[in-house]
Amino acid sequence: MSADPRILLVDDDPVILLFIRKILSKEGYSDITACEDPLQAVELLRQKRFDLLLLDLKMPGMSGLELLSWIGRHSEIEKMPVMMLTADEDVAVRHQALSGGAWDFLSKPFDSAEVIARVNNMVQLHRLHQGLQQANDDLEEKVRERTAQLQREVEERSRIERQLEHLSTSDPLTGLPSEMIFLDRLQQSMLHGQRTRTGSGVIWVQFDLHVKFSDQKRKEWLREMARLLAGVSRGGSVSRRGNRSFVILMSDLSPNNEEVEIILSRVRQRLSQQEIKFELGVATVYGESTDGALLVQQSYDNCGHGHSDGKPDSLKVLLHRAIFDHGCSEFDLVWQPQVQLDKERVTAAEVLLRWNSPQLGKVSPGQFVEVAEREGWISEISRWVIRQAIEQISQWRAQGVGLDHYSINLSSQDLTNPEVVGYIGQQLEQYGVPAEQVCIEITETELMERIEQGRKILEQLKRLGVKIALDDFGTGYSSLSYLRYFPIDILKIDRSFVIDMEEDQTSHALVKGMISIAQMLDLEVVVEGVEHASQRDLLSGLSVDWIQGYFYAAPLAADEFVQFSSEPARL
Ligand code: C2E
Ligand code: CA
Ligand code: CA
Repeated sequence: MSADPRILLVDDDPVILLFIRKILSKEGYSDITACEDPLQAVELLRQKRFDLLLLDLKMPGMSGLELLSWIGRHSEIEKMPVMMLTADEDVAVRHQALSGGAWDFLSKPFDSAEVIARVNNMVQLHRLHQGLQQANDDLEEKVRERTAQLQREVEERSRIERQLEHLSTSDPLTGLPSEMIFLDRLQQSMLHGQRTRTGSGVIWVQFDLHVKFSDQKRKEWLREMARLLAGVSRGGSVSRRGNRSFVILMSDLSPNNEEVEIILSRVRQRLSQQEIKFELGVATVYGESTDGALLVQQSYDNCGHGHSDGKPDSLKVLLHRAIFDHGCSEFDLVWQPQVQLDKERVTAAEVLLRWNSPQLGKVSPGQFVEVAEREGWISEISRWVIRQAIEQISQWRAQGVGLDHYSINLSSQDLTNPEVVGYIGQQLEQYGVPAEQVCIEITETELMERIEQGRKILEQLKRLGVKIALDDFGTGYSSLSYLRYFPIDILKIDRSFVIDMEEDQTSHALVKGMISIAQMLDLEVVVEGVEHASQRDLLSGLSVDWIQGYFYAAPLAADEFVQFSSEPARL
């Protein structure tokens, strides 16, 4: 409403019009339109908006009540306060006017003080009313905007969930069904076999991968092998296991094993052109069991693993010697800095294992951890790593190196070892290291393979006070519901997403999605494998807490690490 309210005066008596106009003008109202003819008033109301209408009740041609009801019927006329001018003391007429939309009355003969007081009131009231209306409209607009925003957020989240879901049902590298889906199908096949008295089987295909492939080459090769093996058993499934193995599901087998031989020869034939040697392991079951994971394990155990050709399993023998005869003395720990983005310096580190074998040279944990797990030796290694790491941390504490936390990797087999928590607790106590300075990393895949046991151990670790990080996030098949199920503090987004992030929109979106999930669940985020400034730049726009990767530093020996972390991080 303008500072000077627009008033419309309608009365067939020109003397009254003159009188009211005069006293209102004196009071300072300057925008007054007076009219004797109610039909002309209708025209005026159509053309202009008024802030107050003073309306005579009795007029020739059209009464005040009729004009009032005309206004009521015309929604395009903006509503304004209406004050009836009346000499009529008839209560019924007044009621009619009130229910027709009148706000108040002025009784003839007029008392100027009363006219002014009532008009002032009415104008004031109208102002308040309009202010309220505006506030209401603003609020509604805000609610609408917020609702739309929430809607967008919900859509974004469900899109991310769908993407993660897809990651979990299919192997992003080869498009084959994920391990979980494979296990599920195997289980279904075994249950079906119990009813129909048919068998199920698994073929483990393991390639003798001694060639050194580049990352890209390895991916291409795995895709090629996936293509060759897919569909080798009718109606069956093929799934990838790690970087050099596949499993094939066989269903509806008759007891004479005929089909198994056929499928095996088909596999051999398809792979016969390959330069890389391979071995096959078969396990079948006819109704006795429905434990799919066990059947897969048996197929693996039945695979030669290089023993059949008489070659000495030197890595295995040497590893056994290193652990049990040399008390892990050939092992070493290196420390990879994690740079906290908002503090622009190193505030955490991941400790990684190294094996300097006198015979084999430097062996990457990627090669020997797997062997140690398979042979059941990993808990020895884990104990050694835990003790060494905590001892080093306590030395650094004494020297005043104050990091937020240090991450130690555990193997999936440690999740089945009830002693590991006690051991960590004991070492922390012995070296006087506060539990919250240690973070335990478990890979997503390992955790999903041992959901119940994993949760139990993680909860015990949590009670101890150590932090927990979910490693290689995005490569396993956890769904969001699982993330909530485990007491996790930190998500480590896997390097594979970072590699593709710059070219591949999906990877970029996935990284963003994973980060927003982490925020939703109140988890901190480490992104690993950052090698280039461009990758770091992409990430620094997102809510990433720490970055780990060659861009800042490779894993460093203890003294190099102390040196590095005392300097400001390059940004
Ligand atoms: P991980 O836990 O995912 O560790 C990260 C690996 O990525 C390390 O390899 C690290 O050197 C490497 N890395 C770090 N930054 C970059 C980068 O910018 N680019 C590239 N290309 N690589 C990067 P590493 O040390 O060879 O370890 C391999 C895996 O072996 C680890 O993967 C972990 O699963 C396992 N491992 C290492 N130490 C231990 C240990 O003490 N105990 C157990 N159980 N497993 C360990
Ligand atoms: Ca790790
Ligand atoms: Ca990792």
